[in-house]
Amino acid sequence: MERVDYLVIGAGAVGMAFVDTLIAEDPEATVLIVDRHAVPGGHWNDAYPFVRLHQPSAFYGVESLELGRGEIDRSGPNEGYYELAGCAEVLAYYERVMREFIDSGRVTFWPMTDYREGRCIGILSGDERRVEATKRVVDTTYFDTQVPATHKPRFTIEPGTPFMPTGELPDLVRKPDAVPSHFVVLGGGKTAMDTAGWLLGNGVAPERMTWVRPRDSWLINRRYTQPGLEFFEGTIDFQSALMRAAITADTVADYFLELEQGGHMLRLDPDVQPTKFFFATISEGEVEALRAVENVIRGSRVTRIAPGLIDTQDGAHSVPEDALFIDCTASAVADKDSVPVFQDGKIVVQALFAPLVVFGAALTAWIEVHRDDDNARNALAQPIAVRQGCAAYLTATLGNLTNRMRWAREPDLAAWLGRSRLDPAARTIAKVQAERPELLAALGDYRTLAKQGVPALMQLIQDARED
Ligand SMILES: Cc1cc2nc3c(=O)[nH]c(=O)nc-3n(C[C@H](O)[C@H](O)[C@H](O)COP(=O)(O)OP(=O)(O)OC[C@H]3O[C@@H](n4cnc5c(N)ncnc54)[C@H](O)[C@@H]3O)c2cc1C
Repeated sequence: MERVDYLVIGAGAVGMAFVDTLIAEDPEATVLIVDRHAVPGGHWNDAYPFVRLHQPSAFYGVESLELGRGEIDRSGPNEGYYELAGCAEVLAYYERVMREFIDSGRVTFWPMTDYREGRCIGILSGDERRVEATKRVVDTTYFDTQVPATHKPRFTIEPGTPFMPTGELPDLVRKPDAVPSHFVVLGGGKTAMDTAGWLLGNGVAPERMTWVRPRDSWLINRRYTQPGLEFFEGTIDFQSALMRAAITADTVADYFLELEQGGHMLRLDPDVQPTKFFFATISEGEVEALRAVENVIRGSRVTRIAPGLIDTQDGAHSVPEDALFIDCTASAVADKDSVPVFQDGKIVVQALFAPLVVFGAALTAWIEVHRDDDNARNALAQPIAVRQGCAAYLTATLGNLTNRMRWAREPDLAAWLGRSRLDPAARTIAKVQAERPELLAALGDYRTLAKQGVPALMQLIQDARED
């Protein structure tokens, strides 16, 4: 029987961020990480090869190691903004982090291992290895991230239909005869946007594409999620806009329209009111490029596909007989109710500041080490339910603000946040204080606005619940 202090289920971004902070803050802790995958990095192992982070690399990964070089992209769809690591870079990063964990002598990694109801089963051997976690079992699988390669479409695919998950698209390089005259992108989320953008970027004319987008999404303008002091005023402007919109809007729909007016939210089609939101972040350049795709089927979900045919809940649509259907319908994160983070013998890592789940994971480890009982820990680790939908954004915004207020009252925690590379706010503010104090006036205005904005936000959430 192996004995460790912590048994961590999952070597994805969340598990890695948790362990990194845990072993930094508790110099005695021993950890075993188990994961079904062969290497660390979680869903990035199954991701489409052209996927990139949605948010700057600067806020992703683990506390102890910078991801990327902190540079601004000089070309491409992210031009002018801080770099977004791609899939290969993210995986290489986690491999290096895991090596450093193991070199510490305090972390063991069991890949290809399934954790099932307290048992660790080798996927290839079928053998069970017994482990005792003397402090906690840390469950980092709460988000249950789905990507096209690992999810099962919810529509019927008739035999002989050209179909693939988006990740297989680059394989067409080896099958030039299979390159179709037409592509059908199935799905309205960020993966579908990445896929349509990738096709356009690789010279597929917009007329050669049909996009089945049952519902449109509101999208966060990437301009306002940037690190770096040169973007500080924009970031505060976004936070202030979230408060101003709460004060002026009468409904959730109005709230998003207000944010759009200020340029903080974007949508693909100015004539279509989005009804979806899930923290997708995009640049104005990408939106402009995607608008070139005019064959859009809206309003209902796909029920069946067959060669040359798309059946939806509202009726049938025809496309060229050889059209290739590309599945982008995986919903990255399942809607779930939150549960207490710190439980008897267990930690269920969740978002503490949406949508930055890796920051929440690192902070959870910090709280585990620096608070003595679970009531005190849970008081600082109030999870934010990461849900799809427009109203859920208001709840998450309120949760983020309330958590920040709790953390600001704890001097040791506030000091750690000021050094945290994964926290987009506190470290930047500390840097502004040191290097550009004149910019702090904007922060003062924001705080004044928040006094009126927070109750207004609560009212809007309440009204949305009653509707
Ligand atoms: C395309 C995409 C882009 C994203 N971009 C960003 C971004 O820019 N910024 C950001 O903050 N967030 C981003 N996210 C959201 C989120 O931060 C990431 O998805 C993050 O990588 C999720 O990490 P995770 O550890 O929760 O999940 P996963 O990556 O799914 O890792 C969980 C791991 O647990 C393992 N596991 C599960 N169950 C078991 C079990 N029973 N036994 C053993 N192992 C198990 C799995 O094999 C997996 O390796 C993005 C998400 C997607 C899909």
